[in-house]
Order: sequence, then C-alpha cells, then structure tokens
Amino acid sequence: MEAINDSPRLSEEPPQPQDRLSPEELKRYDRQIGPGVLTVAGQERLKRASALITRVGGMGGPAALMLTMGGVGRVVIAHGGEMISPDLNRQVLGSEPDLGKPRAEQFSAYLRTMNRFVEVEAIDHEPDDAEALELARQVDLIIACPPTFAERLRLNRAAVSAGIPFIDAAQWGMTGTLVVVQPGQTACLECLYPAAPPFEELFPVVGAISATIGSMAALEGIKILSGEGQPLWGQLLSYDGRQGRISQINLQRRADCDCCGNL
Ligand SMILES: [Zn+2]
Repeated sequence: MEAINDSPRLSEEPPQPQDRLSPEELKRYDRQIGPGVLTVAGQERLKRASALITRVGGMGGPAALMLTMGGVGRVVIAHGGEMISPDLNRQVLGSEPDLGKPRAEQFSAYLRTMNRFVEVEAIDHEPDDAEALELARQVDLIIACPPTFAERLRLNRAAVSAGIPFIDAAQWGMTGTLVVVQPGQTACLECLYPAAPPFEELFPVVGAISATIGSMAALEGIKILSGEGQPLWGQLLSYDGRQGRISQINLQRRADCDCCGNL
C-alpha cells in the first residue's frame, strides 16, 4: 500500500505560542503523553485541531467525549431532536433528567464540563448538503455517526470536497464498522456504497457495540489529528461482536466514483 499523507492541512500550520500546552494542560494529559502514546508535539497538534462529529448518540457520543477528554482543541457536534427514552440504552452524553430536552444543547453542556481546555460548539440539527460542506471547510476531520446512508454519504462528500480526513462509523445489532478515508488517496465511502442501500430506520443496537465503535472512531481521529500512530487508512474494519470476530478489508478506489473519481 502506498504511504498515506497524514493530515496535510494540519502539517502546513506552524505552531504558534498559544498552541503550546500550559503546565495545567500537560498535567491533564499526563497519562496519554509518553512512550507508546502521544508526544508533546502530537498533543499540541491535537490542541490546534478541530473535529466535527455528526449525530452524537450511541457512537458519536463516546467519540465526541473521547475527543474532548483527549484534548482536541475544538469539537463541533451536530444532532437534532430531543432525548427520548429509547436513547438511554446507548447515548452516554445524556441521562434520565435530560429526557425531553434538546440533545445538542444538553450534550454540549456535558462535554464542556469534561474539559475546560476544549472549545465545544453545538449544532441543533442534521446539516444539509450545503451546510455539511461549509462545516467541512472549517474543521480538520469529520467523524460521521448517523444512522442513515444518505447522511453518511453526504458527510463523506463534504469531507472529500473539503479535502479533509473522514471516518464513517456504523452499527447494527452487535456489529459495527469503521471506514477511514483520506480523500484522493484512499477509497471513499461512496466507492463502497455508490448508492444508498435499503435502510431500516429503527434497527436493533446494543449500547456496548455503539460505545466500542464510537471509541474506535475517536482513536482513529486522535491518531490522524496528532499525526501519531498508524490510522486505518482505506480500510473497512468490521467487528462482529456477537461472534467476537474482527476483520479488516483493504478498500479499492473506484475510478468511476462520482464522489472521488476525479481526484
Ligand atoms: Zn470514492
């Protein structure tokens, strides 16, 4: 496999004095800076990075939480609607007292309590095509956790158009998948799904698989944004939790992909 350039947009930006970690921040991230984890320079790259996570429920919630706690400088979450009882088998950013309240507002308030060094922004709806592209141009990474193929493919298109890395996280039952995209260098989600497959809106899902896949997506994001570790570029990772099996497939780019074929 060809070498994949990590986060070209980030590497173009020279560190500024305000990007340095304060003594308080170094103390906060003490357990994740050192051999086998992040360097100080990698943690500083996280600090000046930004990520959009759309749908911060069972998967996106843990993803947003781990990026916030891990020190990604700006975390933008998007999720419409109010919290309902069936959310509470998997949605970790809200709790019983939040039932009936707007998810984006409640979830962002909770994230802010977890790390005062991180800026958290909330969007109280699912972005349409134009807004997704506008948002993609303002962040360094998108993690997509929507339940619908239409939204997942929309966010993939936005990330590819903006030239930023994209992580698709998906779940069904006790199974989850990740696809990690570097536009123009790896297959994109539309190479895998040229058209949205039939979709079952109220599919079954166990919270433990949601949190597992969401956390794996966050780890991919941390590796990409910090420039450390080896992201799963161009891979489809599938975790069949029911059978306890993990598999990885190298995805091939499609030359006739409507989304990335011209890159
Ligand atoms: Zn493609």
